[in-house]
Amino acid sequence: MSDTIFGKIARGEVPADVVYEDDEVLVFRDLGPQAPVHLLVIPRKPIATLNDAQPADAQLLGKLLLAAAKAAALTGIADSGYRTVLNCNAAGGQEVFHLHLHVLGGRPMQWPPG
Ligand code: AMP
Repeated sequence: MSDTIFGKIARGEVPADVVYEDDEVLVFRDLGPQAPVHLLVIPRKPIATLNDAQPADAQLLGKLLLAAAKAAALTGIADSGYRTVLNCNAAGGQEVFHLHLHVLGGRPMQWPPG
């Protein structure tokens, strides 16, 4: 896959407002927040889309969800509640082709999403 802005953030080449990180996962605030708290959870390993994830990535995918919950707690939205979103490809609204989970909270969410 080609390099992306999130790859550069994962390597520390571009700054981000990081709220959690470990060896495999990074969580930072979205530059264009759609809610009072809007976080992005990425694997350091570049995977372009969910379609590109392999069975060998299963543990890493689970770690993204656990990091989302941890970051929700760290930013104070765990108890009130939040939404995770994973956009895949054009019709799914994906713009950055480095797999990422959105975590949105701090306000009530609507259903269905647009
Ligand atoms: P998606 O449409 O699912 O690919 O989401 C991409 C998200 O990345 C959007 O919500 C953007 O606001 C966000 N974004 C793009 N560049 C940056 C950046 N440098 N730092 C933080 N968030 C970014």
